[in-house]
Amino acid sequence: MTKEQVASEENQVRNIEDQTGIITNIQLFAINDGPGIRTTVFLKGCRLNCRWCHNPEGNRRYPEVYPYLPNCNDCKACIEVCPAGAITFIEPGKPRIDKGLCITCMQCVDACLYEAMVCWGKIVTVAEVMEEVEKDKLFYKNSGGGMTVSGGEPLTQPEFVLALMKAAKGREIGTALDTCGYAKWEVMEPVLEWTDLVLLDLKHMDPQAHKDFCGTTNELILENAKRIAAKGIRMRIRVPVIPNRNDTKENMEKTAAFIEQLDEQYNVIDGVDLLPYHPYAGAKYRVFGLDYPFPMGEGYSDEQIEPMVGVFCDHGLDVTVGG
Ligand code: SF4
Ligand code: SF4
Repeated sequence: MTKEQVASEENQVRNIEDQTGIITNIQLFAINDGPGIRTTVFLKGCRLNCRWCHNPEGNRRYPEVYPYLPNCNDCKACIEVCPAGAITFIEPGKPRIDKGLCITCMQCVDACLYEAMVCWGKIVTVAEVMEEVEKDKLFYKNSGGGMTVSGGEPLTQPEFVLALMKAAKGREIGTALDTCGYAKWEVMEPVLEWTDLVLLDLKHMDPQAHKDFCGTTNELILENAKRIAAKGIRMRIRVPVIPNRNDTKENMEKTAAFIEQLDEQYNVIDGVDLLPYHPYAGAKYRVFGLDYPFPMGEGYSDEQIEPMVGVFCDHGLDVTVGG
């Protein structure tokens, strides 16, 4: 290798490590986001709009400030420092931020001594993320784990995901991409080159129902599922089970048949995770003063989930409940 080639390679590595993106969290010791012990990096931003979403902090691709109501002691320090006049009180101890006025200066977050103003979203470099991810490298090796990039929808930040995957692979760390599948193929494909496992959500098989519940039709997602499989990349399919939305026998049958066909053709399916809706999902909205845009209902009993598991087993698929 010439001096110039060495220098060019070093520059490329430096460029990857310096890439920035916005994350909501890095979860160590994750055991539900792929095999083994993993570190899951949650990226901010999503193009779907699922009504039951239990991660409102991951929806928008920019930092946001929300009041965490249980911590507020009504001292009003936040109002005093806000340069935009964005904070009002609906009642004592219940601040509200006008998103149209807020300039996300974070002064209220710094001023609140009670940690009642919370920032969703942090801009970080790949190097900073990898410093965290590398801490558990030994556990990944022993358990077959690695790094999972999740969201939100990670592919809303394609350059950042790509850089994270390359950086992990450069450190001999296994990679998984947790995606809703709603991304242009030319955005997804480069990331897949560095991905060992795809965790792909299938929320509904009917295009119109998918649009009604998630804001978009599902054709692109199903097409991407086939393309990922055709590349021979291992997949786990994740099916959120949502009351009165996708939990009919007909939809479960269609979902199972689609996955079975993928596996028959490409032999890439590791299994299916059924993820039953949990009524606690709405609690997060309440503590941040948000309206939960989905009717709060009961959770599922084992007796209700069992027949759905049966549908996937009948199609020869390995199923877990809860992911
Ligand atoms: S959010 Fe924090 S700074 Fe504002 S009134 Fe509540 S406790 Fe005080
Ligand atoms: S982030 Fe800044 S502009 Fe927004 S509410 Fe807080 S102090 Fe006001």
